[in-house]
Amino acid sequence: MYIKQNKLLLATNNSGKLREMSVLLSDLGLEITNPLAQGIHLEVEESGQTFRENAILKAEAFSSLSGLTSLSDDSGLEVDVLDGEPGVMSARYAGPNASDQDKVDYLLDKLRGVPFDRRNARFRCVMALCSPGRGVVIFEGVCEGIISEEPKGPGGFGYDPIFYIPALGANMAELSIESKNSISHRGVASMKVKEYLASIV
Ligand code: IMP
Repeated sequence: MYIKQNKLLLATNNSGKLREMSVLLSDLGLEITNPLAQGIHLEVEESGQTFRENAILKAEAFSSLSGLTSLSDDSGLEVDVLDGEPGVMSARYAGPNASDQDKVDYLLDKLRGVPFDRRNARFRCVMALCSPGRGVVIFEGVCEGIISEEPKGPGGFGYDPIFYIPALGANMAELSIESKNSISHRGVASMKVKEYLASIV
């Protein structure tokens, strides 16, 4: 693995992920850039069956198009009582053009009548770091929680308004970006990326 031009491209078009990853990786001493800033328009088809496969597809596609070391994030929500759904389908769970609100409503409908003690879930994040021609390294983070019955909080994105974290007594969307980053699946995976990069740069 090597870092060309001291630049790291965030291999995602998701504004929520970009916001969080930019903060998480800001103290690395690398220039953190994104597809828009690089003039790159790329939608990668997420044809993999696992977070890992999709993370690799995205990191490889962005790094070969840009020539830059690229870091992707494939993530989603796993609900135990739904046998791990929506999982890799988290972004498309309520249909291809569904809004975050639609997805939240759809999941709450599926869980209607399920009691609090059977609403366990976790966010999972798999990041893939890829340098052109130098292979891929994988990092993973998990954050455990419970799907609440009502949305709460203005922050975050995706399923954050219905993801309750018992240790904090709050839903993910009620946290500041710094608090979310300190406990989230993306925060945990990013810490591992930072340790790895610090060891090679
Ligand atoms: P993908 O990684 O592009 O397949 O999309 C992941 C989807 O999972 C997002 O569109 C969100 O719906 C959901 N997701 C991933 N991470 C988070 C998070 O930190 N908070 C809330 N929802 C998330």
